[in-house]
Amino acid sequence: MAEEVRGPDTAALDEVVTFTSELIRIDTTNRGGGDCRERPAAEYVAERLAAAGVEPTLLERTPGRTNVVARIPGTDPSAEALLVHGHLDVVPADPAEWTTHPFSGEVRDGTVWGRGAVDMKNMDAMVLAVVRSWARQGVRPRRDIVLAYTADEEASAEDGSGFLADRHAVLFEGCTEGISESGAFSFHPQPGTTLYPIAAGERGTAWLKLTAHGRAGHGSKVNTANAVTRLADAVARIGSHPWPVRLTATVRAALTELAALYAIDVDTHAPDLDVDLLLDKLGPAAAIVEPTVRNSTNPTILDAGYKVNVIPGQAVAYIDGRTLPGTEEEFAATMDRLTGPDVEWEFHHREVALEAPVDSPTFAKLRAAVERFDPAGHVVPFTMSGGTDAKQFSRLGITGYGFSPLRLPPGLDYAALFHGVDERVPVDALHFGVQVLDHYLKSA
Ligand SMILES: [Zn+2]
Repeated sequence: MAEEVRGPDTAALDEVVTFTSELIRIDTTNRGGGDCRERPAAEYVAERLAAAGVEPTLLERTPGRTNVVARIPGTDPSAEALLVHGHLDVVPADPAEWTTHPFSGEVRDGTVWGRGAVDMKNMDAMVLAVVRSWARQGVRPRRDIVLAYTADEEASAEDGSGFLADRHAVLFEGCTEGISESGAFSFHPQPGTTLYPIAAGERGTAWLKLTAHGRAGHGSKVNTANAVTRLADAVARIGSHPWPVRLTATVRAALTELAALYAIDVDTHAPDLDVDLLLDKLGPAAAIVEPTVRNSTNPTILDAGYKVNVIPGQAVAYIDGRTLPGTEEEFAATMDRLTGPDVEWEFHHREVALEAPVDSPTFAKLRAAVERFDPAGHVVPFTMSGGTDAKQFSRLGITGYGFSPLRLPPGLDYAALFHGVDERVPVDALHFGVQVLDHYLKSA
């Protein structure tokens, strides 16, 4: 029985800091142009797994774009397997904007600094530290645990989780659920309140390309078929479109829990629920759900013309669209209407929306693991506004939760550090994460 309550050893608490720092020092910047090299980071992880008796498999679609997959056999062969995945690449960082060099991995004043400290070399390191602690303690999980350290999450995932799902599905056999980034970090909407949003879904990606055609000609002439004007009209309509509220099960569950927590007397299942009014009443806590109560479309790129006195025959724009589960048809019909007859639209890149059940035994265990180590904290489900590798793994029938637990001090705007300047994570937060993950993964 003693083993049931024993947590990670002290070496794990040291290792998680070392691993986070050293992984940050391995520059895995992914600019999306194919020049990222995850291999040194993948080898770093693989060596440390192998030393703990967990045999890693290194997989590449493109030389240098390395993924690591390993399986830890569970004690219950009839149990379904659990996928734990984290990406090894990071977004670019400009040293001129930072107070510490983004690839220094410096540990200063109880904080690890650098690109990836939050997204998501912290989680990579926490999982690695937990697994190695199990090897020292002779711990085996109940379920098989499949570990995946992926390349290319910050771009197309074609060299990472997409490649693994397409070509190496056999390595994920038996996996029904997964955990990864973007959830279970503490959020303090006001003094005295600690929320832990756990992700149970992601909006879909609907990146669009708009093409307006018109009549080319001299800029000084009358032109009632100007492609730039047509495109600009469509882009303005799309960018300012008031998308209607569409509540998914996860978002509704989040609103229900938050309303109860704040003692707001409202029936979140009422057909005439005024969601925007409820968000107002929730104050800063509304940030958890506000980006996911409706679809969104933001124009991001415009491309037309080459000379000020020449009207081009064609003009192009790109839109970053995001869709909630179940709204795909409505989204397409709305785009047909907003673009109008003179502008064509097509999907430039499309990824499915995800929804994971919040009334599942797994969600209950994730919740319990957080509350065990922070009894004053409140777990709330939420839907991610963007996407992660979970989209690719969903093609293998794997239901994904965003669960990278961290207990952060009030005042640290953690959400702003994702892809932000001076990305950093407190050592205490990493220690909390190791304890929660150790407990959850053992009991999963
Ligand atoms: Zn990430």
